[in-house]
Amino acid sequence: MNYTSPEILIVGGGPSGLILALSLARNNVPVRLIEKSTTERVGQRGSGISPRTFEVFESLGVVDDVLKQVIKVPNFCVFKMPGGTEIINDFNMEEYVDPTPSIPYPNLMLLGQDLLDKILCAELAKHQCCQIDLGAELQSLKQWEDRVEVVIIRHDLSQDTFDSIDPVVAHSSPEDPPVAPVVEHASYK
Ligand SMILES: Cc1cc2nc3c(=O)[nH]c(=O)nc-3n(C[C@H](O)[C@H](O)[C@H](O)COP(=O)(O)OP(=O)(O)OC[C@H]3O[C@@H](n4cnc5c(N)ncnc54)[C@H](O)[C@@H]3O)c2cc1C
Repeated sequence: MNYTSPEILIVGGGPSGLILALSLARNNVPVRLIEKSTTERVGQRGSGISPRTFEVFESLGVVDDVLKQVIKVPNFCVFKMPGGTEIINDFNMEEYVDPTPSIPYPNLMLLGQDLLDKILCAELAKHQCCQIDLGAELQSLKQWEDRVEVVIIRHDLSQDTFDSIDPVVAHSSPEDPPVAPVVEHASYK
């Protein structure tokens, strides 16, 4: 592992972290992203992608891949209770609007977050200046005048448990040599 470069550490491989990493990588800013989960994220919290977000995706070079996978918002049904089989209302939450030159992406669309993560990760993989570490968890950070010291717990990728912690210390300052794991860090085991 390279402890001295890149100088920017992003913690968390959710949409915020991935988009931040991609924004930096597309501008040739080296970045390291750590994600405590040892696997790609599965499932989702919400699938709605608002119109302006598509414009961000366009600026990040992923809008075509996103558009290939999104679906329109399906109709909502209200069922009569009790029973719940007779439909009493069937409606569009939003009417579909045709794009125009000034509003190229006018509609809310749906895409699972796990699918969006895959698109963003695939795009990030094209940038050699981005390093993604799964199974790496920020444990603490200390702000100095000239650097931030962080303690990162490495989870053994073969075991998704806390038994195999291998703490390392990473510095944001390229001049600082790597600091070997120290006892107090190891005591977190
Ligand atoms: C019920 C619900 C419905 C929603 N619906 C929508 C919707 O329709 N459309 C929409 O756009 N948004 C929706 N949202 C909001 C959306 O889920 C969040 O805005 C989005 O997930 C935030 O992304 P994030 O990257 O900031 O955080 P997260 O998605 O929470 O990702 C944070 C990541 O950081 C990792 N992490 C945390 N701590 C550490 C650490 N110490 N070290 C390393 N890694 C760490 C976590 O494992 C995680 O992968 C919804 C949210 C909820 C709860």
